[in-house]
Amino acid sequence: MIQKIDHLGIAVRSLDQSIPYYEKALGLHCEHIEEVASQKVRTAFFAAGEVHIELLEATSDDSPIAKFIESKGEGIHHIAFAVDNIQAQLGQAKDNGARAIHEVPIDGAGGKLVAFLHPKSTFGVLTEFCMPKPTEA
Ligand code: ZN
Repeated sequence: MIQKIDHLGIAVRSLDQSIPYYEKALGLHCEHIEEVASQKVRTAFFAAGEVHIELLEATSDDSPIAKFIESKGEGIHHIAFAVDNIQAQLGQAKDNGARAIHEVPIDGAGGKLVAFLHPKSTFGVLTEFCMPKPTEA
């Protein structure tokens, strides 16, 4: 089940250049910066109430973020929903015609499991599901 919008992902050319806008012009606080090797990005997270803003900077030319900026420019990249069961959510989406980019959830930022739906199957919106990684006992 979808619980809430967890964050909005925004593609930027440079974290160093864009963070001051979020901090100074908007007055948000940068909570942490993290490199996500699996996605070839560096991310910066800001809390805006319950919802977070995730800035995404490419760490290599073949990063999905580099390709996105090349074709569309900087801007909103994805919407992420917090879910209670990522496999079930993916299954529901696929059963109803959406196309998964990842058949199996992958490691995302903030120690979460994430999975994406292809924007060509979601009316143009790259859609992420995320949930905290189950802790191994
Ligand atoms: Zn995200």
